[in-house]
Amino acid sequence: MIVLSVFIVLITVIFVFFIIKTIEVNKGREIANEKYARTKVEKFIDKSFVKRLSIMPLIDSESINDSLETENGVSYLISTEDKQILLDLGFNRAKKHPSPLLKNMGVLGKSFENINCLVFSHAHLDHLGGMNEQKTKSFSISQSKVETPKIPVYSPVKIRPSKFNPQLDEINVSEKPSVIEPGIYTIGNIPRHLFIMGYVEEQALALRLEGKGIVLIVGCGHQTIQKIIERTKQLFDDNIYAIFGGLHFPILKKGNVNFMSVIQYIVGSDYAPWAGLGEKDVFEAIESIKAENVSFVGLSPHDSSTWSINEFKKAFGNKYIDIMVGKEIHM
Ligand SMILES: [Zn+2]
Ligand SMILES: [Zn+2]
Repeated sequence: MIVLSVFIVLITVIFVFFIIKTIEVNKGREIANEKYARTKVEKFIDKSFVKRLSIMPLIDSESINDSLETENGVSYLISTEDKQILLDLGFNRAKKHPSPLLKNMGVLGKSFENINCLVFSHAHLDHLGGMNEQKTKSFSISQSKVETPKIPVYSPVKIRPSKFNPQLDEINVSEKPSVIEPGIYTIGNIPRHLFIMGYVEEQALALRLEGKGIVLIVGCGHQTIQKIIERTKQLFDDNIYAIFGGLHFPILKKGNVNFMSVIQYIVGSDYAPWAGLGEKDVFEAIESIKAENVSFVGLSPHDSSTWSINEFKKAFGNKYIDIMVGKEIHM
């Protein structure tokens, strides 16, 4: 009898939780869409460009060999002819020191000494360097003190450095589209309300590459690629040359399901799990990218399932580039 009562209470609690979340996500979706529609965006007057561009994935869920750590998070080192920008700090789920990011930087011969600024795509645990970091709206390179030069930080929302990197206290809340360095821009915040993780503001990086066009580098892609492309076209006259990074397609298909995809599917979508982020979302994204006639595409495996990545590979053929830790992408 007691067991049955506990079971009924448990089922009721879960049911009520999902009803509340469904109401929340519907309301949140409206608020996010209204905010996006209200945001007035003007073309950048700045016409500067970078001459050379490469992207080295330092953290993602696949790597070129076993000497490099993988995890479901993102950290990309973007290098131009004279600047280095670090986008996001990975996850460090096991709270290790040195973090997977520091270890991989060591293996790949990269150092904070040469990095000019740190940019956060959004304030989720797999980009801020930890679960506690998300809770406390802070960020950590590792879980013990790390010395770095005092470089500026760009974040779509207010965050603060953790006790492990207090020197990184020059925080620029880059809510609006802005120039970070000559030829290097943030396209500004685009909001979304996710089923479990709630409201999120995310920004993407755009670099104008001389003679080629705009290269977009995305973190988790909660904004949706359709809105990222729309915003980019409002900001630049240039064509979109390449799109790299997370677009959040943890589509669950038989034989292609892993634990992290299931988690991403439930927590990181703006659909209720039973209403399902599905194949059509991937196909619509592919169509919207194809419409821009981009020259290169790479989908981060950290928040997309192998099924989605294979669909992108099929759709883009030799324009598709794998995103793997240790494999530098030269533009
Ligand atoms: Zn992510
Ligand atoms: Zn995220």
